[in-house]
Amino acid sequence: MKKIYLTSEDKKAARRQSSRKWWMANKEKARKSNRDHYHTHKSDYAERQREKMKDPKERSAHRERNNNRNLELKVNVLSHYSLNHELRCSWKKCLVSDVDMLSLDHIENNGAEDRRHGHAGASLYRKLVKLGFPGGFQTLCLNHQFKKALNRARTLRKGSL
Ligand SMILES: [Zn+2]
Repeated sequence: MKKIYLTSEDKKAARRQSSRKWWMANKEKARKSNRDHYHTHKSDYAERQREKMKDPKERSAHRERNNNRNLELKVNVLSHYSLNHELRCSWKKCLVSDVDMLSLDHIENNGAEDRRHGHAGASLYRKLVKLGFPGGFQTLCLNHQFKKALNRARTLRKGSL
């Protein structure tokens, strides 16, 4: 028997429910087909994206989404490299916990290597998540980042005297 829907809202909800059911049952197949379609139509997607970004409204929405995502990523990564995984500078007694004033420190001062490979900021954070949070990093506030560099320069200077 054909179902009768009272309103177009009911109809929409029913359609949503049925396509959701199909998706749950065919998840892998659907994902693969989406992926394949993307790979065979890559340039179409890129073109559509380029067109979309010509609209200033779209552009600023896009930027905001990216900024939010990157901020969330930064908080996650810096929290991980904080003492007890609580977002804060790792310097003894320092209480700075404002994410805008914190950054990731290469404990052995080998950050130049990552930067040479194009990994800084969000790109570095993504890499660390992907690698499962390798060691060798700590969260520092920008003042203590500076202080550490100063101490290091002083030590190096003493060494060369
Ligand atoms: Zn600090």
